[in-house]
Amino acid sequence: MIDKYQAFSSDNSKNVRPFNSAPTTLNNPRLAPRKNVSTYHSVGNYQAAGGFRKKTNFKNPVKNVSKEMTEIKTFDNTGKLRVMVLGGLEEVGRNMTVIEYEKEIIIIDMGLQFPEEDMPGIDYVIPNVSYLEDKKDRIKAVFITHGHFDHIGGIPHIMGVIGNPPMFMGKMTAGLVRKRIAEFKQAPVLKIKEITEFDRVKISDKLQVEFLRVNHSIPDCFAIIINTPLGKVVHTGDFKIDFTPVNDKPADLNRIAQLGAENILLMMSDSTDAVHLGYQISESAIGDEMDKLFEKISGRIIIGTFASQLSRIQKIFDLAKKYGRRISLQGRSINDNVEVAHQINYLKFDPKIIVEDKDLNRLRDDKIIIIGTGAQGENNAFLSRVVNNEHRTISLRSGDTVIFSSSVIPGNERTIQNLMDMVVRQGAKIINYKMMDIHAGGHAKQEDLKLMMRLIRPQYFMPIEANHYMLQAHAELAEQVGIFKENIFVADNGQVVEFKKGHKVINDKKFEVLGTLTKEKVPSDYVMVDGLGVGDVSAIVLRDRRVMSEDGMIVVIVTIDSKTGDLIGSPDLISRGFIYMKENRDLIEKVRAKVKFIVKDKNDNTPADDDYIKNKIRNEVGQFLFGATKRRPMVLPVVIKI
Ligand SMILES: [Zn+2]
Repeated sequence: MIDKYQAFSSDNSKNVRPFNSAPTTLNNPRLAPRKNVSTYHSVGNYQAAGGFRKKTNFKNPVKNVSKEMTEIKTFDNTGKLRVMVLGGLEEVGRNMTVIEYEKEIIIIDMGLQFPEEDMPGIDYVIPNVSYLEDKKDRIKAVFITHGHFDHIGGIPHIMGVIGNPPMFMGKMTAGLVRKRIAEFKQAPVLKIKEITEFDRVKISDKLQVEFLRVNHSIPDCFAIIINTPLGKVVHTGDFKIDFTPVNDKPADLNRIAQLGAENILLMMSDSTDAVHLGYQISESAIGDEMDKLFEKISGRIIIGTFASQLSRIQKIFDLAKKYGRRISLQGRSINDNVEVAHQINYLKFDPKIIVEDKDLNRLRDDKIIIIGTGAQGENNAFLSRVVNNEHRTISLRSGDTVIFSSSVIPGNERTIQNLMDMVVRQGAKIINYKMMDIHAGGHAKQEDLKLMMRLIRPQYFMPIEANHYMLQAHAELAEQVGIFKENIFVADNGQVVEFKKGHKVINDKKFEVLGTLTKEKVPSDYVMVDGLGVGDVSAIVLRDRRVMSEDGMIVVIVTIDSKTGDLIGSPDLISRGFIYMKENRDLIEKVRAKVKFIVKDKNDNTPADDDYIKNKIRNEVGQFLFGATKRRPMVLPVVIKI
């Protein structure tokens, strides 16, 4: 192995400061509300266009001096390794891990999570980095395992907040990160260094980082190995082991086996497919299945897939060439990914094979393959626009074959059923992954996971990157392969795992480092990105949106005399999504009378106070409407003073 030690100067080290915010300690983190949503003052300070406003100093350092002093005493980190996962332990998405040895911090991944059903209007959720904001000087480097959005999506929002430390990632990942960051004008210029499995990064005398090649559904995926004075930490990132990957090198099994002899302290491993039996199939096998399919299809082939499944997309390009078809790429994310991957020669095809929309209808049906997004039924994605007849150039017709080449993400079943119904109604045929296995996931299944653990033989184990039940399933596998139960940590987001020197013996096996799943928890609540704003959507906004989506809203407009406070004219009422006003005249009149009464019922000795009137309208009209309709529309009072 060539050691290209990439030392970089930590020019900010002179400013190392003890941390001045105590991590929140919960007595029982398991009982902590799992999805409490809050806006963080600090995070709320960057919102415009995904970039950052200058951080306002919400914590006055002078005021906090005494607090700081006590905390230094309480948190002596000498010789301690602390691991905390800010996102990815309670969900598939927004992956981000913080590794802290004494005063140095390394970050692995910065992903986003797509919103849950109870978050109307939210584009995505990113990890909460409040723990890091006052430790910028201590953050030495960021490592990105691969280019999927649940690992890179948070970068434009977070890097500026944490002081824009140097970043290390593979070539493909770097291409995708650069593409993403270009959309965020106010994000800082990133200091990206491209790495391969032959590189090492020296953070300091205490910390060095190595990379291990693994496979996944996108090229250039690396596990991260961190050498610390207490031992090595292996973070797998997303992985599967593929002996015959498409357009990527196979996982470095030799190195994985070598690691087993290097006394690995902690292994953090991908749990996405931990509930699935057996081995993950190779991407090449999928290619063969697709080949058999394509051979039989005579009309247009329309393939719904993930934009991120670049290995699959390569195979489709190869088959297009073989069968003399041309390819139409539909959906911005697919176009972007293909462009990036083609530029750096990771996707190999002759650009002439791509057909533009305007030329599409001039080709014969048997000369066309359309690759599009939306196989999960996502709104506004290519497939849903096509079936809803909202696409400019493409509509379905009989003779078309639509292939769903991605497995169904749990929770999307009904949407996909609907989508398939619509496809069939328009005369097209459907082939989905259940009918013929054209889906290979990107993640290791149970037998692969066991193999990885058997080879790496860590002292401590931490399942990551999935929902809790999947982490638990992975923990059970770890026990089966002989990792001691007390050394397996199924943590929650933000929960701190700590390692320090010490002795313990389990079943005659000696351990020189003690690991603990502590009760300390650093903030890990959702930070929501909505349109171009970050973190400015609070629980209150979300609650309002939910109320409106369930029970609608009613706007009450009153005009009052600014001097006397007397009502001028009759209150105006506007209903949206609550009741149809024409059919509820009676109720509307009652509300109007109520509002008149509220405005009249004021203290004559004080000038007209619109806040008071507004609150009163909100509360009393709300109560009245609930009594009358058993619904709770959002009541929006507007007071106009003239
Ligand atoms: Zn991934």
